[in-house]
Amino acid sequence: MLTRPLGRSGLTVPLLGLGTVKFGRTAKVSYPRPYVLPSDEEVADLLALAKRFGVSLLDTAPAYGNSEQRIGEAIAGERSDWLLCSKAGEEFDGARSRYNFNEDHILRSVARSLRRLRTDYLDILLLHADGRDVDRIAAAGAFRALRRLQGDGMVRAVGFSAKGEPDGRAALPRADVLMCAANVPNRSQVDLIECAAREGVGVMVKKPLASGHCPNPRSLADLAARRGVSCIVVGTINADHLAANALALDGVGEPA
Ligand code: NAP
Repeated sequence: MLTRPLGRSGLTVPLLGLGTVKFGRTAKVSYPRPYVLPSDEEVADLLALAKRFGVSLLDTAPAYGNSEQRIGEAIAGERSDWLLCSKAGEEFDGARSRYNFNEDHILRSVARSLRRLRTDYLDILLLHADGRDVDRIAAAGAFRALRRLQGDGMVRAVGFSAKGEPDGRAALPRADVLMCAANVPNRSQVDLIECAAREGVGVMVKKPLASGHCPNPRSLADLAARRGVSCIVVGTINADHLAANALALDGVGEPA
């Protein structure tokens, strides 16, 4: 798998990352079809396959049910083979999400993520945003918490997972990394990706297949051709789909 620098963060990431919502959560998701959570064996097999393809970045969050715990168990003893991205700010109780961007909450959330993932550092930590004004998120102390964690060596790169274009743009000056949505029907954040590239902020793309509503792996190569895109995070619990996604990005070069 091709790797790319994650902006100016100093990290190098694989072009394809694995999204893990479906490892731990089935309720209130936007996928086209219901599904059952994979067994422990299926998770282990999927991660072994991901590793074979060089898909070494796992994207998780406290809001993804028990995704973090399952990853922690599955990769125990092989932490250094993986790049782990988690988030803070959103809590999902099985029925609804609540958001808290207070400094103390972010610090406590990351301590919990580290325990669940059985590690003492995250490679990437993103604020799991809900679209509210970024100045309000900043006033609550969330960005201060990120930089404090980074200074303490618990997190390598910090950033923001945007709900939309406005909050993503406002977060850029405060972020090493921006996660934003881009896919065939939704091009609304393409200018934002360009802007992030100019600012040296690494971009991770979420929902690249429109959460399964446009499930054509060939569309991933178009995203990869965009300047600024460092990593495309595709969610899957299906080994054939993971392989198809990896092959779709095989041989993709650098953006013009
Ligand atoms: P996505 O990656 O666009 O699509 C995932 C869906 O597409 C799944 O239902 C998957 O089903 C299906 N799929 C994957 N590869 C396929 C293939 N080759 N052929 C056919 N179907 C395929 O959507 P996403 O999971 O919403 O987004 C990706 C990741 O971004 C998430 O997992 C999560 O890590 C992150 N994310 C972050 C946020 C945030 O606010 N920070 C929000 C949304 C997502 P199968 O399991 O059957 O393959």
